[in-house]
Amino acid sequence: MVERRRTRQVKVGGVRVGGDAPISIQSMTKVDTSDVKAVVAQVKRLEAAGCEIIRVAIKDLDDAAAVKDIKKNIHIPIVCDIHFNYKLALKCIKSGADKIRLNPGNMRNKDEITQVVKAAKKAGIPIRIGLNSGSVFARLQPAAINQKVSLPSALIGSALAYIKIFEDLDFRDIIVSLKASDVDTTVEAYRKMARLCDYPMHLGVTASGSYDQGVIKSSIGLGALLLDGIGDTVRVSLTADPAEEVIAAKRILSSVGLRSFGPDVISCPTCGRCQVDLSSIVKQVEDGVKDLGQKFKGIRIAVMGCEVNGPGEAKDADIGIAFGRASGVIFKKGKIVKKVDVNNAVKELLKLL
Ligand code: SF4
Repeated sequence: MVERRRTRQVKVGGVRVGGDAPISIQSMTKVDTSDVKAVVAQVKRLEAAGCEIIRVAIKDLDDAAAVKDIKKNIHIPIVCDIHFNYKLALKCIKSGADKIRLNPGNMRNKDEITQVVKAAKKAGIPIRIGLNSGSVFARLQPAAINQKVSLPSALIGSALAYIKIFEDLDFRDIIVSLKASDVDTTVEAYRKMARLCDYPMHLGVTASGSYDQGVIKSSIGLGALLLDGIGDTVRVSLTADPAEEVIAAKRILSSVGLRSFGPDVISCPTCGRCQVDLSSIVKQVEDGVKDLGQKFKGIRIAVMGCEVNGPGEAKDADIGIAFGRASGVIFKKGKIVKKVDVNNAVKELLKLL
């Protein structure tokens, strides 16, 4: 059982982040933010997939103005991602943003930061201090190397300087992120930062790559931190459909036992003993249970390829099946309840569930 780091709690719209709140899942839209119709359609698809907080890129004042209409048509809190121009943050706050993300790598004017912090305080919304390696390392890397400061420490130094400005303004509705594109820098930065403040952390490995590469990097990076108890909201960054980011985040959180979103389907890798098309059977079981939701959360279903090693796992699960040549034996809570033909196996298994 993971013992989570104790943090302050902030509210992003109706979603609590930090403290004892469940670790929330976020993603980012991948269409032009000023195209309200396209953004709303994408957000609704992400909401259906399980996204709990959505972030949009704000590149100009048209995007900032669109936030108002987007917000009216979606059900989850909206975060505005701001780089370079503090005026965009001010406009987004006026448009009803539920949270602002600022990048210390490209917004360093103290007066401008102060204006954003004061506006966020007045609106009662949090700000994420969102460091990422691309923008911060480019500025800090030469100095860091000269002074023999590690890059994670340079990232942290940048975050702490920002936090100081916020705290001097008596603003503590802060979320911190320290994303790098390599796993070890990301993990080291978050681990060190976790010891230095009690602000909630938004976890992510930035620019992690295509689906295959990105899921692996994110699983290792986020998994290591989550098992340390670090992390209050997560975004898996993938060069892929954003719905895949949400599904990957759900899988990471359920794999480390921090959240459950429905039944947990386990299956064997198959070997020369397996005489059925287990991969297709597992896919059918996963599809059959994916919409069962909270009522079935935590229930374990085992789908095993043979009668040699299969029954052991199948017995340990809440419901399990171990296949022979053309049939399967279904177990429920460790006891055999049915022998079924391979063609009816999935149907019978789901019926028992
Ligand atoms: Fe092979 Fe059977 Fe183990 Fe599956 S359960 S990997 S088929 S021995």
